Amino acid sequence: MIVGNKILLENTRRGGYAVPAFNVDNLESVLGVLHAAENTDRPVIIQTIPRTLRYGGIPVYSAMVRSLYKGNPDISIHLDHGGDVGICKACIDAGYTSVMIDGSALDFDGNVGLTKQVVDVAHPLGISVEGELGTIGGKEETQSEIKYTEVSEAEEFVLRTGVDSLAIGVGTAHGVYKGVPHIAVDRIEEIAAKINTPLVLHGASGLSDEVIIACIKAGISKINFATQLRQAFTQGLKEGIAENPEAFDPKVYLPKAIQRVREAAEKIILLCNKNA
Ligand SMILES: [Zn+2]
Repeated sequence: MIVGNKILLENTRRGGYAVPAFNVDNLESVLGVLHAAENTDRPVIIQTIPRTLRYGGIPVYSAMVRSLYKGNPDISIHLDHGGDVGICKACIDAGYTSVMIDGSALDFDGNVGLTKQVVDVAHPLGISVEGELGTIGGKEETQSEIKYTEVSEAEEFVLRTGVDSLAIGVGTAHGVYKGVPHIAVDRIEEIAAKINTPLVLHGASGLSDEVIIACIKAGISKINFATQLRQAFTQGLKEGIAENPEAFDPKVYLPKAIQRVREAAEKIILLCNKNA
């Protein structure tokens, strides 16, 4: 079934696994991720950022997922990094089952207020909401300083907003890492000890397998992978063209890109379910 993140993430901590969330950009990445989910028979979250929605149109991606989905395993269709109530509403109208509202650039009370507004719109419709507290580095941030999520603030935030999951800042960054990142696994543990709300790790592309396993063990329930999938798609596209230099029909060289996305996604799914 296509369900909300709340349902997908419900048993993660007890089960010792995390659900990977894959950012898709086109038909080929949707096909690759769905094939990976079918082959591994494990739940996945398929998500898009607002920039992708501006590129292809809000109704397009959920329509692709819904028409290609075969019924198993459970998946959700999620908005990643929604910036305002309007885009969350538009995605819900387009068939998304889960939305993220990212108010992390606001002050604490502003973030609570904005997030609560989205929760009030989404929950009556059965739609899950992810909030963000603290800062995650990389391209989606304007500030250069990374602020780790405070335990007491996380407790107050989930209590006041009623979010279904919470993205926390523990040293990860979006995009490609320069050097080895330091991830505060102990901070994940401290937050998980205080709140039952599933915790989300952004910016996981480029983290070692060991660090990802440690983060899941510490209490992370959802892990976002965007860069890694985009790299797999682009590598497959280049290979497909190199192997078929005379081809002009995209259906000849794009299957290689689907294959590379599927392989990358399968590897990630198995990693996230390693201790399940
Ligand atoms: Zn993110």
